[in-house]
Formats: sequence, C-alpha cells, structure tokens
Amino acid sequence: MSVVVEPTPEPEVRSSTGKPPPARGVLAFDVGGTDMKAALLDDAGDLHALVRIPTPRDERHPGDAIVAKVAALTGEYRARFPDCSIESIGFVVPGLVDEDAGIGLMSANLGWRDYAFTENITRATGLPVAFGHDVSIAGEAEMRAGAGRGLRDVVMMVIGTGIAAAVFCDGRRVRAGGYAGEIGHAAVPGGFACPCGATGCLETVGSAGAITRRYSELSGSPVSGAKGVLEAARRGDPHAVQVWDDAVRALAFSICQLSAVLGTEAVILGGGLAQAGPALLDPLRERVKSGLSFHRVPHLTTSVLGQDAGLIGAGLRARDLVAGP
Ligand SMILES: [Zn+2]
Repeated sequence: MSVVVEPTPEPEVRSSTGKPPPARGVLAFDVGGTDMKAALLDDAGDLHALVRIPTPRDERHPGDAIVAKVAALTGEYRARFPDCSIESIGFVVPGLVDEDAGIGLMSANLGWRDYAFTENITRATGLPVAFGHDVSIAGEAEMRAGAGRGLRDVVMMVIGTGIAAAVFCDGRRVRAGGYAGEIGHAAVPGGFACPCGATGCLETVGSAGAITRRYSELSGSPVSGAKGVLEAARRGDPHAVQVWDDAVRALAFSICQLSAVLGTEAVILGGGLAQAGPALLDPLRERVKSGLSFHRVPHLTTSVLGQDAGLIGAGLRARDLVAGP
C-alpha cells in the first residue's frame, strides 16, 4: 500500500502523482478534532487526491456541517474522476460511536450527540457508508496493512493530546459497544485529576499533551510540544528529564497491565508522541520488560501507516462493504 499524494494543504483537492486515475474506487473520510481528511482509494490500495481541510464546525448542527462537507467533497471527487466508478464511502469519527447503527453517540470536542451519520451521508450522496471510530479503524488498518500484519493479539495506542487504543484479541477487535480501548482514562500511579472527572488517568501523565503542560508548569517556561521537552531532556534539563521519565513510567505501567490481562504480543504506538522513536521506545521496552515476569512480553513498535492509518482503514472498510462475501 502506498500513498501517491504530496502533503501540501492547497489547492483543496490535490492531484495524485504518477498514477493514472482508477476505473473504480471508494471514498475515505477521517474526521479529526482539528482537521478532516479525504481521499479516493483504488483497488490497488493507493490513495488519490488526498485533501486535508479544517474540520467544519457548527455549534447548533455539528453533524449536519460535517455531512454537508462530505457531500460537497464527494461531488468534487466525482467531477475530478469522471471515469471512475465511486462505489461507497468509508467514514470515521472520534468520540463514542455505535458502528453498527451508524450513529455518532457523543463527541465532547466536536459537539454531536446521537447523530445518524450513515443515514445522512447516504441520503446526501446516494452511496452506501461504512462507519467507524477513528482510532479503532486506524488499528484495523495497521492490522490489515501495517505493523500488525500477521499478528492476533495486539493493542494499538494512539498517543497525542490524549491517549486512545484499539484492542485486538485472537485476531478480532474488541468493540464492547464502543467502550473498549479507553486506556487513556484508566488510572496509573502518579496520575493527576483529569477533565473526564476521574483522578490519575494515564493521559494526565503519559500523553504528548501532558508532557508539554507538565514541563511548562514545572519549569515555568513555555515549550512547543512534547518534541521540545524531549530536546530539553537531551540537553540535561532536569524538569524535562523528570517529565519524560514520568510519561515513560506511566505508559509502561499501562502496557504491563494490558499485557497481563490480554497476553498482548505487540503494542503499536501511533500519534504524535510515537514520532519520538527510540527516545520513547528504548526506555519503554526496558520498563515493560522489568515490569513483567512469566508473562508474554509484548513487542513494542511504531505505526507503519502513520497519520493516514484512519483514512486507509476507512477506505478498506468501504471496500469491504461493496466487495461481497
Ligand atoms: Zn480521564
């Protein structure tokens, strides 16, 4: 699977490079808290004309604003690829979702409650829709075409502003009505009060957002993201070293708990913090190993599909929808 696009935000629909327009494809949409991405996925697994735009927002009608944009973009893809048969749509969102019913139950950040995405997108575009949760579907994409290929017991952890996970046991994703995978809101030693209402949540220590916030609080100087904290830690800044070490310790605690309960064979790290690479993975491996005894010690690795995993997963889901048995 390859991505044949260039990463510039303008013009709104970008041209794919090199490859001829496909005769058949599906549209994939990944709605995030800040940006929304779309692309055409062909039968070979290539993404065409990937676009990234600010997520449309409407305080009173948040779901309708997104559906209107999906319909407009679908029209643009149809105009741009007139000879391509566009057969279905894959659409993923954050928050709590009911995948089977096609309903976005709740997004604290984007504002919808019990919104019927599948029904409304089908009405607006005339296309069948595969609907899912962004991190879960990103995890599915990693299992099918990325770092989890060939594995059965895997947790994909997406570490950014917060922390969410997709859990796979015996090759199947644990769905639990949309409630599985909320590892970011399970308590760890040394955790703090969390906006979710609980105290001690992993993401109050182990997320990129927490690393940035805690360093600024401790040192009294602002920092541009977890990357800046890591650079300060490399220079020997004691506050940065402490904050980074606390994050690694908290993440290792959660990974050990998951491994003991699920027998996880691999943990795939995605999201912004995973870009730290060995600076995160090496100390994390050491702590996870020392935190387990007779258990299966999971292989720690980073996402292969990166920030497009959700989009690719949405496209694969859309393809499943029309592929038949
Ligand atoms: Zn929480």
